[in-house]
Amino acid sequence: MKIAVVGIGVAGSYLLSRLKKDHEVIGYERMTQENHDSICAWGTIKSSMSELCSKSDIDFEKHIIHDGKNLYIDMNNQQRFDIKLKGLCTYDKIGLINDMAKGCKIHYDVEPKLEDMEKEFDLIIDATGFYRPYLPKIKKDFFLPTYQYKILFENEVPLDDFYVKPFPGMTGYFWYFPLGKNMAHIGAGDYKKQHVQQTNEFLKKYGGKILKTVGRPIRLATPDLCEPFYHGKVVGVGESIGTVYPLLGEGIIPSMVCADLFVKNIGNNEQYRKDVLKYFSVYAKVLHFIKTKMKGEFSAMKQLGELFKIYRYMKKNEERFGMEIHMRDLMKVAKA
Ligand SMILES: Cc1cc2nc3c(=O)[nH]c(=O)nc-3n(C[C@H](O)[C@H](O)[C@H](O)COP(=O)(O)OP(=O)(O)OC[C@H]3O[C@@H](n4cnc5c(N)ncnc54)[C@H](O)[C@@H]3O)c2cc1C
Repeated sequence: MKIAVVGIGVAGSYLLSRLKKDHEVIGYERMTQENHDSICAWGTIKSSMSELCSKSDIDFEKHIIHDGKNLYIDMNNQQRFDIKLKGLCTYDKIGLINDMAKGCKIHYDVEPKLEDMEKEFDLIIDATGFYRPYLPKIKKDFFLPTYQYKILFENEVPLDDFYVKPFPGMTGYFWYFPLGKNMAHIGAGDYKKQHVQQTNEFLKKYGGKILKTVGRPIRLATPDLCEPFYHGKVVGVGESIGTVYPLLGEGIIPSMVCADLFVKNIGNNEQYRKDVLKYFSVYAKVLHFIKTKMKGEFSAMKQLGELFKIYRYMKKNEERFGMEIHMRDLMKVAKA
């Protein structure tokens, strides 16, 4: 088939790498080639990424920047605790995207018109993340604004490992993700829109030179809320159809898993739809919990069962989440 992949982020580039052997694939990206980057904190899990990348004959380990040991959780200075990490790392996300897209024709600095693509291609992939301009608008969308700096610390780094500060009511969180010896991504996402202030407070406290400022909404609406996944010749893959784990705002691995489901079902959109809904059904439960927390409607008594199900899912997939999962930690965060 002749396939257009629009949006060269994690989902789009992974798709190019998975499809290029058997199909004619052409990529489109709205950023210029020089400015092409990924608006993301670049945190992911080693084991899952290594497995996914091996399907494209790519060695993920060579892209790792920081291999985490500890995640420091700061509950608004009332309480701090550590979570032992089992594979959470930062990696050169744009380097990996370029590696995956190697050998494929990509048009940069362009937002192609649907009518033009429809004439030329058998299939058009909307891998544009939050924006999804080629698919119908989502009726019940749910997203958070985010803001992030890439910081260069000229002297000492303020923290030697991953650090997260959840906001009261779990409306979002601040993150510090190390990027090697003297750099880090610091940023926040917040339903109550304190994300810019919180990021600037950290910067004011610890200093550092801003190398880059970015921000974009992150979709937390889960796939069950993001239908349709396909329309005419267009099929959505990745965050365009809601593949972000809402508790963590983690979308890299889920978007690649979604791309795998697409590859498995290529040409059978309805089966792709069913597989996506099935695989991501637990995300809908997690979103329900998050939404009730954010809106101040969470009841520990009524929702303990729901919380326990989330715990069980994460515990079972500890390796996948790259950290030790304990009910006591989840409770501490839920009580915030
Ligand atoms: C600030 C922030 C930090 C995050 N940190 C993490 C993290 O540490 N770990 C994690 O797992 N997840 C993180 N996420 C979520 C994760 O980045 C995304 O869910 C994931 O990258 C989605 O992949 P995608 O390929 O579907 O979309 P994207 O990565 O958003 O890629 C979409 C691409 O499409 C391009 N595009 C958009 N519109 C058009 C158009 N009309 N025409 C052509 N091109 C277009 C964009 O420029 C972009 O290159 C973060 C998100 C944000 C906003």
